[in-house]
Amino acid sequence: MSINIAIDGPAGAGKSTIARIVSAQLGYIYVDTGALYRAIALYIKENNITDENIPSSLKNADVSIKFIDGRQRVFLGDRDVSDIIRTPEISMEASRTSAIPSVREYLFGTQQKIARENNVIMDGRDIGTVVLPDADVKIFLTASAEERAVRRYKELADKPNCPCYEEILSDIIERDKNDMNRPVAPLKQADDAVLVDTTNLTLEQSADKIIKIITEKTKR
Ligand code: C5P
Repeated sequence: MSINIAIDGPAGAGKSTIARIVSAQLGYIYVDTGALYRAIALYIKENNITDENIPSSLKNADVSIKFIDGRQRVFLGDRDVSDIIRTPEISMEASRTSAIPSVREYLFGTQQKIARENNVIMDGRDIGTVVLPDADVKIFLTASAEERAVRRYKELADKPNCPCYEEILSDIIERDKNDMNRPVAPLKQADDAVLVDTTNLTLEQSADKIIKIITEKTKR
């Protein structure tokens, strides 16, 4: 039986960076499910698909994940879209379209199959509550909206057309609101998840804390 670790939490809490460090140290595959929602958002946008046509067109999206040199890449058909899905526009479109039930149903099986076949650390919004309700370890990773905006701002500061801090903060607050208030699979802490607040922790301290939790809970 594979070991499954679920890490959920709001945008910018550090899930992907921390999950990458932890999975490398513990020898798990890291699965970033947000990338799947982003790829669907890109597909919808590029093909100008209206909301009422989304359910019938998803079968043509052909979203898949491959692991190349141990790193996840996301594909639409045979096109690697892993890098072009990382824009603020696609973040917002993913947050909007991920609330559509047919989008969630479409990605549900893909995520469960990867977890069945591999030891995974899977991050997202509904992994511990919906996708892997029987995960061996569930972590809810959070930080204040202001701290998350500061971190994102620092990441983007040397890139061209970098949005200002206020813009990043308001995007984060809006995405939190969308993700927490949607009727289907909203972002929330699973009853049996361990809460880790990283507002006052460094990346290393956060990763250490999570490694301790996982090691303790998966002791056989
Ligand atoms: O994690 P990331 O910010 O890349 O996710 C983009 C969007 O995809 C989120 O704002 C959220 O709306 C959606 N998402 C989701 N469920 C997941 C992962 C991401 O609804 N498991």
